[in-house]
Amino acid sequence: MKYDVVIVGAGVAGLESAIVLASKGFKVAVVESKPAEKIGDKTCGDAIGIHHFEKISLEIPSKVIDYKYRGVKIYSPSEKHGLIVPGEGVSVNRVRFGQWLLEEALKKRVELYDSYVLTDVIIKNDMVEEVRVKKVNGPVVELKANAFIDASGARPALRSKLPDTWPISDKPFTTDFNIAYREVIRSVNPMPEEDSKYALIYLNAEVAPGGYWWLFPKSDDRVVLNIGLGVVWNGVYNPRHNYEKYLKPRFRGDLIHAGGGIVPTRRPLPTLVWRNVGVVGDAAYTVNPVHGGGIGSSLEAAYIVSTYIGNGLEAGGVDEKKVWEANIKYMQAYGAKQAGLDILRMYLQKLSNDDFEWILKNKIVDGSSVYDLGVKGELGEKILHTVSAMIKLLGKPSLLNQLRIMRSYMNRLISLHSTEYPKSPEELPKWMSLVENIVEEYARTIGFDRGQKVKW
Ligand SMILES: Cc1cc2nc3c(=O)[nH]c(=O)nc-3n(C[C@H](O)[C@H](O)[C@H](O)COP(=O)(O)OP(=O)(O)OC[C@H]3O[C@@H](n4cnc5c(N)ncnc54)[C@H](O)[C@@H]3O)c2cc1C
Repeated sequence: MKYDVVIVGAGVAGLESAIVLASKGFKVAVVESKPAEKIGDKTCGDAIGIHHFEKISLEIPSKVIDYKYRGVKIYSPSEKHGLIVPGEGVSVNRVRFGQWLLEEALKKRVELYDSYVLTDVIIKNDMVEEVRVKKVNGPVVELKANAFIDASGARPALRSKLPDTWPISDKPFTTDFNIAYREVIRSVNPMPEEDSKYALIYLNAEVAPGGYWWLFPKSDDRVVLNIGLGVVWNGVYNPRHNYEKYLKPRFRGDLIHAGGGIVPTRRPLPTLVWRNVGVVGDAAYTVNPVHGGGIGSSLEAAYIVSTYIGNGLEAGGVDEKKVWEANIKYMQAYGAKQAGLDILRMYLQKLSNDDFEWILKNKIVDGSSVYDLGVKGELGEKILHTVSAMIKLLGKPSLLNQLRIMRSYMNRLISLHSTEYPKSPEELPKWMSLVENIVEEYARTIGFDRGQKVKW
C-alpha cells in the first residue's frame, strides 16, 4: 500500500497528526497495536490545562471532559502546608477523548490499521521507504509512504529502528524517565469539598522519590478519584510497591482501573525531523519535565511537525533541510521551556522532605510565581528577587547559592534551545554535544547520577 504519510501510534499525538495531514488532503494511514475500541485507553492522570487546547484551536466536545479544576494545589510532605497555583484545567475521559479523535480522523478518510504492530523499517537511499506491520495472529503488510511519523509513545517503535547516525534516534538515560503507577477508584468517602476543586500534588520524597504523588478528582460527586505516583527510574524504586504501601491504605473504594507506564521527564529530542521521518509526543520527549503532563504538548508537537511535513509534501518532498523550521517552531512554542525545566527537575529530584517542608512552610514561592515558572519555564528576575529575599531573611545561604547555580544552567539551556538552536541540520551535531556537556556538567555539580543509557 502506498500513502503520503504513515503514522505509527494512535495516541493523542498520532491522531492529531493524522487529522492535520488528512485535513490538507493527504492520504494517511495510522498503525496502532491496540484494537480500535481500545484507542484512548491510556494509563494517565488525565489532568490537562485548558490553554493547551486553545493554543492549537482544538475544540473538544463536553462529553470528553469528566471534571473541571480551578488550579493545582501543592502540598508539603507533612500535608500541613499548601500552595495554590491558579489556572483552569480539566480531567479528560481518556477513552472518550481518544475515540473522539479517532472519529475525527476517520471522517477525514484516515485509514486505520488497528491491532497491527510495527515490526520492520526498510531504508533505501538514506530514506525510509516502507514499514512492515503485522496483524496480531495475522499477515505482515508493507506500507510505503513519502513521509513517516513516529507517534508510538515513550518507548518509540520506529525511530529506535533507525540508524545510530541519524540524530533522531538519540538515546536517553534511565533517569530521563519517571515510572508511574495509578489507580482510578470509586472512593467510599467523598473528597473534602474545598480540595476537590483542585488537582492535588503531594511532594514527598519518601512516597514518590524523584517525582510526586497525586490525587485528581474526576466526578462532581467527589468520589471518583485518580490517585497515583511517579518515581525516578534508577532501578531502585517501584511505584506500585509504594502505592500499596503508602496510598492504598488511605483510599478505600472500588477499583475502576489500574495501570502503570513510563513518562519521559526531560528536554525534547534534539531534532523532531530527520530524512523523511517526523517524531511527535512522548516518542519525541515532549512532556513537561517537572509535572509530567504530556497530553497538551504532544498535541502541540503533533500540530507543528505534521503541518511542516504537509508543507514539505506540497513543495515536493520531505527531508530535514526542507522541514527544519518545524524544530525551530517547536523549540519556541514549548521545547526551550522544557529544556529549562529539565535542569529544575534535576534540582528538585535532589531535594529532601525537609527542604520541601521548609520551602512551603515559609512560603518561599507563591502560587503565581509557580504558575509563571510553569508557563514560561524561566526563573525570572522578579521571582528570583523575591525568593532570594525570603531565603536571606530565613538564613539559608547554601540554598541561595544552589538556586543561583541552577538558574544559570537553566538560562544556558533555554538559550541553546531558543535563540541558539541550529539554523540548519548541519549545525546540529555540534549543538547536541554542547547541550550534552551542559547537562552532564550540571549533573556533576549537584551530584546527580544520570543512570544508564537506554538501548531504545
Ligand atoms: C501514569 C501516567 C500518568 C500521566 N498523567 C498525565 C496527566 O495527568 N496529564 C498529562 O497531560 N499527561 C499525563 N501523562 C503523560 C501523557 O499520558 C502522555 O504524555 C501522552 O499520552 C502521550 O501521548 P502520545 O500520543 O505521544 O503517546 P501514547 O498515548 O503512549 O500513544 C502511543 C500509541 O502508540 C501505540 N504503539 C506503541 N508501539 C507500537 C507499535 N510497535 N506498533 C503500533 N502501535 C504502537 C500504543 O499502543 C499507543 O496507542 C501521564 C503518563 C502516565 C504514564
